[in-house]
Amino acid sequence: MQKFQSRFIVLSAPSGGGKTTIAKMLVKRHDEMSISISATTREKRPQEKEGKDYFFLSKDEFSENVQNDNFLEYEEVHGDYYGTLKNRVEELVDRGKTVIFDIDVKGAISIKKKYPDAILLFIKPPSLEELKARLNKRKSESEEAINKRLRRIEFEYEQAEKFDYIIINDNLHHTIEQIEDLIWI
Ligand code: ADP
Ligand code: 5GP
Repeated sequence: MQKFQSRFIVLSAPSGGGKTTIAKMLVKRHDEMSISISATTREKRPQEKEGKDYFFLSKDEFSENVQNDNFLEYEEVHGDYYGTLKNRVEELVDRGKTVIFDIDVKGAISIKKKYPDAILLFIKPPSLEELKARLNKRKSESEEAINKRLRRIEFEYEQAEKFDYIIINDNLHHTIEQIEDLIWI
């Protein structure tokens, strides 16, 4: 069995950069990996499933979790709240899993502060044009929601400098191979 350098692998990318696709491919290829399912106040997309893609919470439920200190980290992203639930991560670690986080750049940096050996990977699309094309093709957001996501890119690219590695997600299989090379011992 392959060994990973860290129990925590964090993927961040601008929206449409490919982090969800990559995280899902990694867990498919490695039984010992598992994705941390976040909580969010964002509206559920039609194809999404409660407890599989996210735990969808009301703003009040989310605040209650904040007050009860249930989050490892949480952030406001694109006008909604997103957070990593401590008990979910603890459960995965107890089961011996390597945990993949698909979270925003600020959340990634918070994880690194708490767990310095976490590996932070910033996923970049090959170009802005390709990113827009992928977002349009994904058809999961309105044009307004896409524009809101694109406005955050400059900030996200600045934060990428604080990551351990930056990976250009051009050919998906090549991206996966690159990540595996980086995270294996
Ligand atoms: P994110 O989770 O970062 O918002 P997704 O994983 O949803 O991004 O990817 C956005 C879209 O781009 C999806 O439709 C996905 O199938 C597609 N995609 C991801 N990686 C690639 C790639 N390397 N080449 C082409 N399309 C890709
Ligand atoms: P989306 O709405 O496209 O699913 O996600 C929007 C952004 O929120 C993405 O950058 C995603 O990685 C981020 N995100 C998802 N879950 C979490 C989380 O638990 N914490 C933080 N900080 N960001 C998250």
